[in-house]
Amino acid sequence: MPAPSSQSSPFFDEGVKLISYCPLCEMSYNPQEAKVLGEKEDSHLLHIQCGNCSNAIIALVLISSVGVSSVGMVTDLAFEEVNRFKDAVPVSTDEVIEMHHLFKNENELFERMFG
Ligand SMILES: [Zn+2]
Repeated sequence: MPAPSSQSSPFFDEGVKLISYCPLCEMSYNPQEAKVLGEKEDSHLLHIQCGNCSNAIIALVLISSVGVSSVGMVTDLAFEEVNRFKDAVPVSTDEVIEMHHLFKNENELFERMFG
C-alpha cells in the first residue's frame, strides 16, 4: 500500500467524496464548505452546509488501515452552534466507532463526542 505522497489531507478528499452531495437536494457540495469541528489523527468531525438549500449535515470521517469511511447526519445546528459543544475533550477511536450506532440521535452524538 503506497504511502501518501503529499501533505495535503488525504482524508479530506477521500472522506468528503463519500459525503459529496447534499442528502436533501442532492446538489454537490463544495468541499470548501466543510468546516472541521473536531479532529483526531484517525477521525474527523465535519460540518457542511449546502450552498443550495442551506441545510447542514454533520459528517464523521474515520480513517483506518482498511480505508476511509464516513457517516453523515442532517442537522439543524449552524456551525457556530455546533462549536459550542466543542470543549476539546479527546475522543477515543472506540468511542467514535461507537457513534456509528448512535448517529441517529444528535444529542447523544454530541454527548459522546464532546461531553
Ligand atoms: Zn442541499
